[in-house]
Amino acid sequence: MNRPMTWKTLVREVIDDLPHTFTLRDVEARRDYFAKHYPDNRFIEAKIRQSLQILRDQGFIAFLGSGRYERTGAVQPLFSPFFDASIAERYTSKARAAGITIETWAEHNLYCLSCSADELSRLPTNAIVADLECLACNSRYQVKAKNGRFGTALTGAAYEPLLQAVRAGTMPSYVLVEYDPRFNIVVFVEGVPGRYIDETRILSRKPLKPTARRAGWRGCTISLAGLQNVKVRIVEPAGRDRLTVREEWQRLG
Ligand SMILES: [Zn+2]
Repeated sequence: MNRPMTWKTLVREVIDDLPHTFTLRDVEARRDYFAKHYPDNRFIEAKIRQSLQILRDQGFIAFLGSGRYERTGAVQPLFSPFFDASIAERYTSKARAAGITIETWAEHNLYCLSCSADELSRLPTNAIVADLECLACNSRYQVKAKNGRFGTALTGAAYEPLLQAVRAGTMPSYVLVEYDPRFNIVVFVEGVPGRYIDETRILSRKPLKPTARRAGWRGCTISLAGLQNVKVRIVEPAGRDRLTVREEWQRLG
């Protein structure tokens, strides 16, 4: 059994074996190699194109036009705080569109916090408690996005599955993405290890009314109160807290 690999990794492996300049056809010619990893995938060509776009956005390759590409020799993915809101234009729900946009940004820009893997793989949308997974160490991450700043409580998904995850010790780590839609930019991103989110922090909300479409469904709130010291700042492009800056300044003597 092959180790699971993301499409991006597979495409990158293939192009690393190709000449410095190559064509889309050169990549597509390795169909059998992709089919070995994803035998059931009926969308190999689409996946190749999508992966090439991601590799371009991350600075690994450059598009030369007319289906020709060039390897840039980059080793690390380029980080971009900008997200592409156009990918979710077809969603009428603003919250849903923002979720899709930020998940895509996260998939392109986040990396595993627990090991040296530079990419995370998106889990199927029906995965109950997590969005992204590291294929190297199996760490899982749940991305939460907010237009503006987060308070100390997050809106979680279904209550019971989350409680079960806590009890089973399989809580994903949370990645909190604060964005500004005026500029399509991610402003702050913080990571909170899942092991700090215990049962007392999962607060049930009222079950939906019998008249609701999903009658009886219970959502939850996740309290992050008091966890400031166990957060790791991943993105911090904006000005930092001035008191902290002054303290650091004072310490310079
Ligand atoms: Zn990892």
